[in-house]
Amino acid sequence: MQDPRSNYPKPPFKEQTQPWPGLARDMDPKPDHGETSYSGSGRLAGRKALITGGDSGMGRAAAIAYAREGADVAINYFPSEEPDAQEVIRLIEEAGRTGAAIPGDLRDEAFCKKLVEDAVQSNAGRQQAKPSILDITTEDFDATMKTNIYAPFWIIKAALPHLKPGSCIIGTASEQAYDPSAELYDYAQTKAATMNYVKSLAKQFGPKGIRVNGVAPGPIWTPLQISGGASQEKYKKFGSTTVFGRPGQPAELASIYVQLAAADASFATGNIYGSGGGQGQP
Ligand code: NAD
Ligand code: MG
Repeated sequence: MQDPRSNYPKPPFKEQTQPWPGLARDMDPKPDHGETSYSGSGRLAGRKALITGGDSGMGRAAAIAYAREGADVAINYFPSEEPDAQEVIRLIEEAGRTGAAIPGDLRDEAFCKKLVEDAVQSNAGRQQAKPSILDITTEDFDATMKTNIYAPFWIIKAALPHLKPGSCIIGTASEQAYDPSAELYDYAQTKAATMNYVKSLAKQFGPKGIRVNGVAPGPIWTPLQISGGASQEKYKKFGSTTVFGRPGQPAELASIYVQLAAADASFATGNIYGSGGGQGQP
């Protein structure tokens, strides 16, 4: 047993702003993606996964867990995240599985079309906090919409012809879909859109035997937060509002991504699974 109040670091956190998209390697404390803790039991033997944002955060936690559960894993990431990605590829290979590294910018439709295997998990996300709507330029707004809404649209379209019955799509939504923060005007609405496309595509793809689900994390300690996703003031006390007085770690969500992908979750579709530290969402 583990006491959820004391098994991970608590705020205050050090000042450590990184340029977007940030590297997990350089965070202090380093996020826990399950590198030393996750042990698999063959739940995804023979499966193949494509994980966007697989270099760090929830994507890395899912990549490690999927590989240890027996799946081959392809990860996509932004080219500047190569050092984080190489660590993940090493961990996938150490689990005895095939790891493929596919860097590229998800805001580009042609690139998204190349990013296709027989399973899709859409996890990459862009979050840049801005105190006022007046601070959000059209370019900022467009980059967030392209990354969080268009990229899953393009990737799912390209993947659909390859998805056999039993395949599944997992989108990463957020508590922000349900209770948006004042300074996340653009990001929060993309997460509401994610929650919504999960439900519509579940109805559309159910008759094809393809399941579609979402994960809605609360505040999780990842590079997204210290590279513009949260203000310095906010990330220094990140997670202090949860009932455990700390942020979640990516490793604490890995089993949800595994469960949603596993064949024994065969009745779960069109659902959003939360892991929110008691903040009440979803
Ligand atoms: P993260 O920074 O580790 O992962 C986000 C990833 O998105 C990056 O690693 C990067 O590879 C990818 N990405 C962003 N823009 C890209 C682009 N244009 N091209 C290619 N890749 C791009 O942070 P995370 O918190 O693990 O984020 C994973 C998901 O979880 C995101 O969808 C995020 O919105 C969501 N989320 C995070 C939190 C949190 O508190 N950290 C809470 C709720 C939801
Ligand atoms: Mg990253």
